[in-house]
Amino acid sequence: MKLLADEEEKIMIVKEYNVLGTTIQLSVYDSDDETAINEALERLSQIDDRMSAFKNTSFISKINNNAGGLMQEVSEDVYYVIDKAVHYAKLSEGAFDPTIRPLVNLWGVFTNHAWVPEKYEIEEKLRLVNYKDIVLDKSNYAVKLKHRNQCIDLGAIAKGYAADEVKRIFLNHNIKSAIIDLGGNIYALGNKLDGSSFNIGIQDPMGFEGESIGIVSVRDKSIVTSGNYERYFEKDGKRYHHIINPRTGYPDENGIISVTVISNLSIDGDGLTTCGYIMGLKQGFKLIEDLEGVEAIFITKDKKIYITSNLMNNFQLINSEYTLVL
Ligand code: ADP
Ligand code: MG
Repeated sequence: MKLLADEEEKIMIVKEYNVLGTTIQLSVYDSDDETAINEALERLSQIDDRMSAFKNTSFISKINNNAGGLMQEVSEDVYYVIDKAVHYAKLSEGAFDPTIRPLVNLWGVFTNHAWVPEKYEIEEKLRLVNYKDIVLDKSNYAVKLKHRNQCIDLGAIAKGYAADEVKRIFLNHNIKSAIIDLGGNIYALGNKLDGSSFNIGIQDPMGFEGESIGIVSVRDKSIVTSGNYERYFEKDGKRYHHIINPRTGYPDENGIISVTVISNLSIDGDGLTTCGYIMGLKQGFKLIEDLEGVEAIFITKDKKIYITSNLMNNFQLINSEYTLVL
C-alpha cells in the first residue's frame, strides 16, 4: 500500500523507524512540531515492549511462560488487545486464533529457516491452539492460558492497535492531516491540505512493491492489507505464506491472495484482514459485508477483485489485468 506521489511532496515532517517487526513511516502535513512524532515513536516502542512475543519481558511472554499456571496481570492496553483478539476469534469461529503461536513457531514463519513440518508435528501443535483456553479477568486486567505450552501471538492485530494509538497522540497534538504507515497498516488522518481526500494505492499482490491495482479515496480511515506476498517462503514450487489456518495447521490455499479492510479503527481492520484471508471469499467477504462501517477489497488468484457495496464510489481500478466483479 502506498500514498500516491503527488501527495508525498507536501509533507512537513516524515520519520521512518523500525519497530513492531516492520518499518514504519509517519508523515505529518499540517505541523512541523516534532514532539508529536517523538511521542508517537515512544508509544510504539512501548507497545512493542509490552506485546511482542519475541521479547522475554513483554506481558505476552509472561502469559506464555505462565501457561497452565496462575493468572498474569497485564497493562490495560495489553488486556484490551487480547480481548479484541478473542472477539475476532469468536466472530470468525476460530479462523482467527491468537493462540496460533506454537504453529507459527513450528513453521518458522519469522526465521530464515522456514520449512514444511512433518504432519505429526503439526498435529501435535494443533492440539495447543484454542482461543477458548484464554481466561480473561477484566476486573484485575489479568489473563492466563489454561494449558502448559500454549502461547499467545498478537502479530495479526497489534499493528492495528498501534496505528490507533499514533492517531490518538496526533489528535492530542492538534495534528489534522497525516499518514500513519505501519508497514501495511495505514491510517489516513484527516484529509489533504487542499481539503480533498487522501488517495491510497492498494498493492498489486502479483506486482512489484509499490505497484497498485487500484486506488481508494479516504479520510479518517484505516486501510489494512494482508497479502500472500508479505512474508512467505517457497518449497518445491509451492508458496507458503505467514497466515496459518487453525483448522488444518497449514497456510492453506483458498484462492485469496490479498484482503484489504477499510475501517474506523485500525485494530478492527487488522483483525478482519486476517479473518477474511483465512475464511476466504465466500464466508470472509460476507462476514465483512454484514458489518456496519467496515469495507473490504478481496483479490483472488485468478485476478478478480471483489469490493463491498459501500466502496463502489471510493474505489478506482487502475490495473487492467484485474477484473472488478460487480
Ligand atoms: P502482517 O501485517 O504482519 O502481515 P497479519 O495481520 O497479516 O500481519 O497477520 C499475520 C500474523 O498473524 C502472522 O505473522 C502470525 O504471527 C499471526 N497469525 C498467523 N495465522 C494466524 C491466525 N490464524 N490467527 C491469528 N493470528 C495468526
Ligand atoms: Mg491482521
